[in-house]
Amino acid sequence: MSRIQKLDAALIAQIAAGEVIESPAAIVKELVENALDAGATSIDIRVLGDGFDEIQVRDNGTGIVAADLELAVTSFATSKISSLEDLLKARTMGFRGEALGSIASVSRLTIESRSKAEEHGSSIQVDEHGRQIAPAAIDAGTRVVVRDLFYNVPVRRDYYQNVAKTRKQLSEMFIALAVASPGVAFRYDNAIDEPVVLSRQAAVIGRMQGIWGEKIAQDVMPLYHEVNGIALEGYISRFYFYRTHASDVRFWVNRRPVVYKPLVMLLRNAYGELMPKGRFPFAALFLSLPETEVDVNVHPQKREVRFRDEKRVLSLLRDAFHRTISEGGGIAAHSMVR
Ligand code: ADP
Ligand code: MG
Repeated sequence: MSRIQKLDAALIAQIAAGEVIESPAAIVKELVENALDAGATSIDIRVLGDGFDEIQVRDNGTGIVAADLELAVTSFATSKISSLEDLLKARTMGFRGEALGSIASVSRLTIESRSKAEEHGSSIQVDEHGRQIAPAAIDAGTRVVVRDLFYNVPVRRDYYQNVAKTRKQLSEMFIALAVASPGVAFRYDNAIDEPVVLSRQAAVIGRMQGIWGEKIAQDVMPLYHEVNGIALEGYISRFYFYRTHASDVRFWVNRRPVVYKPLVMLLRNAYGELMPKGRFPFAALFLSLPETEVDVNVHPQKREVRFRDEKRVLSLLRDAFHRTISEGGGIAAHSMVR
């Protein structure tokens, strides 16, 4: 029997990183959310080798000042919150200060950045040789390059043998992020398919058309339902527009893509026999409620969501679906999500 000993810091970081960075899609999520938090209006994503060789995210946001580059890659260092009170009302996507530090511990990471206030850009490179800071020729904004994901954790790398699944996760993540931020231009290039280019849009429906084609606007009906400060809005398919899988029901809570298991059946059941058995609607639904009513902190990836007053949320969803479906979508689209 061995004696108890403390793990060294690098190993601790790698173990913890597994919680946040479990896949290439998780990296895309973290980097794009950082770009959004930085106020970017244009985000360019490039993926090589299903994300394992390289993921690159370029944005035109605020940038990081040279003096902060080291802190940016340090775990639990953030510019977004500084107290528990801030945490409870966090409006930004990130707040744990955990992502870049975690990414750095399972990949070779380079950040190049220039804040608008600075004349020159700088870069930091983090890999098995340590951290290196250098000048960088870059316009205002940030470029983060993540190379050789899991190179130092081969067990985790081997786990991703299913290429189709990894690719699907990546494109689903891209869709989840892009639909929720129609005002931001996106480009997504996975080096295999034709790059997806999405121009800035005034509303979610315009972004949906960019992704699923012009006709989607005719195949869905708008939904808007608000009760006591909790609002659900978005689009659900008309009766004739159905899918074979439940994965086309997408859900965001306060703009974050989340998984909320009861949602799909609730929506499906609202259609009843209007939709053939075994078929599922297409939907893009946004729930907004005070941050104090929702816990997105349940999982480090912030995918699963928990509500403080779940009964209220469930009854709001149910009412919204039944009303919209029985009225056939006759609700004016005046308040549609922007
Ligand atoms: P968090 O987003 O939770 O604060 P991260 O590890 O993702 O933690 O990022 C750490 C910090 O680095 C952020 O708080 C922010 O100040 C800075 N940062 C990261 N990415 C960007 C970016 N694309 N543009 C500007 N600042 C960034
Ligand atoms: Mg972040």
